Amino acid sequence: MASVNSVNVGGNQNNSEVIIIGAGIVGIATAALLSEAGHSVLVLDRTGICEETSSGNAAALAFSEVLPLASKGVMKKVPRWLLDPLGPFAIRPTYLPKLLPWLYRFWRASSDTALRSSTQMQGQLMRLAEQEMLALAERAGVMHMIHHEGNLELYESEAELQAAMAGWEAKKQAGIDFAIVRGAELAALQPGLSPQFVVGCFVPKWKNVSDPKLYGKALWSYAEKLGSRFRQASVAAVARLQSGAEVTLANGEKLQCKKLIIAAGAWSHQLSAQLGDAVPLETERGYNTTLPVGAFDVRRQLTFPGHAFVVTPLTTGVRVGGAVELGGLKLPPNYARSAAMLKKAKQFLPQLNTEGGRQWMGYRPSTPDSLPVIGFSSATDDVVYAFGHGHLGLTQSAATARLVTQLLNHEKTALPVSALSPKRF
Ligand SMILES: Cc1cc2nc3c(=O)[nH]c(=O)nc-3n(C[C@H](O)[C@H](O)[C@H](O)COP(=O)(O)OP(=O)(O)OC[C@H]3O[C@@H](n4cnc5c(N)ncnc54)[C@H](O)[C@@H]3O)c2cc1C
Repeated sequence: MASVNSVNVGGNQNNSEVIIIGAGIVGIATAALLSEAGHSVLVLDRTGICEETSSGNAAALAFSEVLPLASKGVMKKVPRWLLDPLGPFAIRPTYLPKLLPWLYRFWRASSDTALRSSTQMQGQLMRLAEQEMLALAERAGVMHMIHHEGNLELYESEAELQAAMAGWEAKKQAGIDFAIVRGAELAALQPGLSPQFVVGCFVPKWKNVSDPKLYGKALWSYAEKLGSRFRQASVAAVARLQSGAEVTLANGEKLQCKKLIIAAGAWSHQLSAQLGDAVPLETERGYNTTLPVGAFDVRRQLTFPGHAFVVTPLTTGVRVGGAVELGGLKLPPNYARSAAMLKKAKQFLPQLNTEGGRQWMGYRPSTPDSLPVIGFSSATDDVVYAFGHGHLGLTQSAATARLVTQLLNHEKTALPVSALSPKRF
């Protein structure tokens, strides 16, 4: 018979007992901030701490990425990209019928008005993201895991750069510094580049973490020291109670809590639907290959916008990957995509040693407007959502944690969260 446990994890009786579903970077950062604020926190995840999408991403704290995916520049490239089944943007044909409603919303998110407001919101969120991430890293004692070498975006012609300038202008308006570099300046920022890259945009304030899995685990150690606890368990159902919420685990066990945070990445909509919130969350599957340390002397993150992938120097190797595949949560990975990006990377960095790589796929949790879902559920203020960060979950994790903590404490939020509400769809 199923048992019912009230989650009482000690601590001050006046504080809420909180359950967080999901130990990805968003759940981890949220656990850290809630523990700092004195809450008793239990994190549930079916795998472990930072073991899924948050473990294998490109490690960027991409505070300058304020343009939504449905931006004009990307929308122009999509038809060409779709022609290549292993290219930067692909749709698995069998998944297309299910995807159509999301694609329609994605297309609507590319209108001038929608883009203006989502870019503005993303800008505000990124300012908070930078402030909160650096402050959290400091408090957690993991500042040494943040690298400050910047990002170099590379173009194969002046015309390609010109086509991207509208986006760079929008970033400039959002306060982002960048420098256009050519010739010796370009070669100094990254020696060994193929001469096909004639011009670059350098963003000096871009940051990376040394390795996203290690970084997530290090932040968790901090949360754990403050009292956060972890339990490996798969959540089958969530429900509101008259006061608080109830979580049913896959083994039938029921846990009750005063406050529930849903931070289950690309699976979150399956839980939010049970509380009456039909959130159009899709997954943009992304692929990469991590090569051993020493595969190439990558000086900073390199971005190839025409091919939608990046090369990232990690303390644990060199990671080559990116791309978007719309194929849902169930279809098996197609690692030919990882191999296709690696082949291109070898062309772009001829001295790259492509031996001994480890292939990986992750599920970006993506909304049509590229903004996360941060807000109360429609059913009850005792459930807060924290998901849908798409390409930017690592970057925005600490900002999300701050907003969730403020919502939970019924404090004024650092920025208006109505644009992030689940009700916006
Ligand atoms: C190729 C690639 C490159 C990327 N590069 C970057 C980058 O450089 N910078 C950046 O900011 N972002 C990047 N991202 C995006 C980033 O990785 C994601 O936005 C982020 O990891 C999402 O974190 P999360 O905590 O929301 O979800 P996840 O990391 O997916 O964590 C959710 C957790 O919830 C658990 N879960 C789900 N359902 C249940 C359930 N029912 N019961 C129990 N547990 C459950 C899962 O097991 C999982 O561990 C990249 C993504 C990809 C794929």
